[in-house]
Amino acid sequence: MQRNTAQKRRVLDILTQMANHPSAEAVYAAVHGAYPSISKATVYRILKDESVCGNLLAVDIPRDVNRYDHRTDPHWHIRCRRCGKVADVEIGAGSINVGTIPDGWSVERMGISFEGLCRECAGLTDGE
Ligand SMILES: [Zn+2]
Ligand SMILES: [Zn+2]
Repeated sequence: MQRNTAQKRRVLDILTQMANHPSAEAVYAAVHGAYPSISKATVYRILKDESVCGNLLAVDIPRDVNRYDHRTDPHWHIRCRRCGKVADVEIGAGSINVGTIPDGWSVERMGISFEGLCRECAGLTDGE
């Protein structure tokens, strides 16, 4: 039990440090770099379990691998179609009106994702 808690803490800490919506594979690579004794299966299981518990967010982006987010407050995502980078989209204050829910249905989860070009891919920054 103790060991599981420590492993969970490490995975969550690394996810928080990465802060870039990494894939499970990328989280594992970072965790493994810092703690070589943690197996891939353990990291994947922790990511899955913790997203079910609400301690992290499994980000569902169309046509992309599953990614994970240390932010669990409501927000949306935008993905760069060229380099695949994912950034947070803040939800504006006030009510959100994106459609009319059919009678009798209750909404438990809503996902909106945007796609476009990031600053770098749009050529808005110097360099390359
Ligand atoms: Zn890009
Ligand atoms: Zn996010």
